[in-house]
Amino acid sequence: MTIKRRDFLKAMGGALAVGTTETQAFQREAKEMPPQAVGMLYDSTLCIGCKACVAACKQANDHPAEIIPEHQEWNEGTWDSAVDISGQTLNVIKSYQNGDLSQKDREINGFAFIKRHCLHCVDPSCVSVCPVSAMQKDPQTGIVSHNPDACIGCRYCVMGCPFSVPQFDYTTPFPQIHKCQFCNHLQAQGKLPACCDVCPTGASLFGDVRELKEEAKQRLAAQAGDSYEFQRGKLGGDRPSHVAEIPKYQQHLYGDKESGGTQVVYLAGVPFDKLGLPTNVPDYSYASISEGMQHTIYKGLIAPAALLSGLMFMAYRNRNSKDEEDKS
Ligand code: SF4
Ligand code: SF4
Ligand code: SF4
Repeated sequence: MTIKRRDFLKAMGGALAVGTTETQAFQREAKEMPPQAVGMLYDSTLCIGCKACVAACKQANDHPAEIIPEHQEWNEGTWDSAVDISGQTLNVIKSYQNGDLSQKDREINGFAFIKRHCLHCVDPSCVSVCPVSAMQKDPQTGIVSHNPDACIGCRYCVMGCPFSVPQFDYTTPFPQIHKCQFCNHLQAQGKLPACCDVCPTGASLFGDVRELKEEAKQRLAAQAGDSYEFQRGKLGGDRPSHVAEIPKYQQHLYGDKESGGTQVVYLAGVPFDKLGLPTNVPDYSYASISEGMQHTIYKGLIAPAALLSGLMFMAYRNRNSKDEEDKS
């Protein structure tokens, strides 16, 4: 006689019932933003879709142009036409288009741009699921970086990221994970992340995350049509700003709460789901649940002990019934 799957699951369930049945009750405390957290405010309404940031990102990170198969015949080697982030493209500008496209940042008969790359989560799932600590979050700046020498290519980070950011590059003999590391090599030299450095309108604005969030909330609080001074490069930096009208924003700062908060935050005129950002992401990080669950289950080894006892009891019972069968 063998252990039935139902009996096994019952034993598992019994062990887990030592804790609680409510998943969120397992949640550990949310992580705080690091003290010198750096980040980016991407304001979609300021983005003109020039893709200077995409080219600068490639240059700064030594990535080749990516030509999609449909474009290969007529522009091979002359134009980067990546349609999404990939192992060769850490940052991409995508567009939303509707109807006659007559007005920017309007949902109906309009168009808008959106920039996609790593959001440098405050409590990153990619770091939590990595079994060899190849994904790390800097305790001071909060930059989430990947160490290719430690990576074993398990791709847990690819599955764990709620924003589908880490990309596994299958096109090379030694496949690797790639994602935006916030140009930490440039920041170490006192330079700006390449995308923020080249952005002509300040749509990609670098700075202290807390200050960037304040700036974003100030823009949200202003009246549409009000004249406003938009900064470029770095918030509080010395580049000349430009004055423009406050657009009709969606009254939401994306990344303020999503997944426990992110260090890259977004403003937009078109609903975020239309721009392709996931809007079903909870306000807590997946890491806070999975790590909380692990700690609860293993607390004092009570649950594993209960599970082990259950399994031993079933094995003992099965063994006894087999002996009885042999005797008869
Ligand atoms: S967006 Fe994804 S890859 Fe970037 S830090 Fe968050 S979980 Fe990690
Ligand atoms: S911070 Fe650097 S790596 Fe990240 S998207 Fe910008 S240019 Fe690319
Ligand atoms: S450089 Fe600035 S304006 Fe141009 S596409 Fe990038 S974010 Fe938009």
